[in-house]
Amino acid sequence: MIKTDCVLDQMFTDNHEQVLFCNDRDTGLKAIIAIHNTVLGPALGGTRMWNYSNEAEALKDVLRLSRGMSYKAAAAGLNLGGGKAVIIGDPTKIKNEALLRRFGKFVNSLGGKYITAEDVAMNSKDMEYIHMETKYVTGIPELLGGSGDPSPATAYGVYLSMKASAKERWGNDSLKGKRIAVQGVGHVGESLVKQLIKEGARIWITDIKQELLKSVANETGALVVKGEELFDLDMDIYAPCALGATVNEESIGRMKCSIICGSANNQLANEVLHGEMLIKKDILYAPDFVVNAGGLINVYNELHGYNRERAMKQTEGIYDNLSAIFQIAKSEKIPTYKAANRMAEERIIAIGKVKLSHC
Ligand code: NAD
Repeated sequence: MIKTDCVLDQMFTDNHEQVLFCNDRDTGLKAIIAIHNTVLGPALGGTRMWNYSNEAEALKDVLRLSRGMSYKAAAAGLNLGGGKAVIIGDPTKIKNEALLRRFGKFVNSLGGKYITAEDVAMNSKDMEYIHMETKYVTGIPELLGGSGDPSPATAYGVYLSMKASAKERWGNDSLKGKRIAVQGVGHVGESLVKQLIKEGARIWITDIKQELLKSVANETGALVVKGEELFDLDMDIYAPCALGATVNEESIGRMKCSIICGSANNQLANEVLHGEMLIKKDILYAPDFVVNAGGLINVYNELHGYNRERAMKQTEGIYDNLSAIFQIAKSEKIPTYKAANRMAEERIIAIGKVKLSHC
């Protein structure tokens, strides 16, 4: 059990730079902001609101998520560090303007070292409230000069990643006729399905929301499959676009695909164990944080005066990035997740030296 009274020990483990605990009795705000690494730039990462069962759980989550953001930004070639925030509590009960504006004040107190954005249980209206107290926020509505919904950029990055994976696996990046199962047709999944259908892929979809599933199927012509049957399909590509940890011992045992490529975060339940299992089954895994970087690239562009065309163009870089990771994995005989981690770590170290030499 992780104890919050050993915070510095936990920060030491993954070398987190700073953790800010935020408390405000009047608004009921309890939040933690974690800054993992700012070598490449300000730490950008969303704020998640969740009814954690205890503070230790919230701390563990924010430390894990902020470290993940450092890797995602570094691998995407962005001048951003990694950070994340969690607000503790049930959003349906305690989220309101006052609490969010108080949180915005705390974000502002960091002077731009941390920049926030949307995450679970937060939306662009919430970002608007935070924006009333700080300029260090992205994901505000387009009408206010923001970038709006990042999902189309994320979906575009996943689509291009599938093409890069197809090229790696079959020597040709066309997805025409490929059998692809998309798990989760929410913001990212639906947009992805539309792009894949346009290219002539054969799509199965699944979702726990039956109405949504039906409407996406009607609109796109994708075939519906029951959730538990997805892993028994004879498919070329599995696209996890719902939850994390769906690539595990049980699912790998059943999977008949050649490629895993989707938007969900933390797809491998256990990186080391399942990364190896996929190699043994000859399944090419496209590392999630490289594949789903389109959303981050989109909000990054908000920092420089948002331009959708520029953001999408930059998202296209994911194709080459992923191809480079596949080459590293092949030449060094390591799993693709490890090659992606290595690429991110090497960039942080290399650019860290550039910065130091100018001190
Ligand atoms: P979303 O909530 O709009 O969609 C997720 C969908 O998955 C929902 O329709 C939900 O009903 C469905 N779902 C949940 N559990 C399921 C299950 N067991 N089986 C099948 N379907 C299930 O979320 P989103 O914005 O589309 O994001 C999808 C995933 O991609 C998430 O894991 C998210 O963290 C990740 N991601 C999203 C973005 C982005 O820009 N939106 C960026 C990076 C990563």
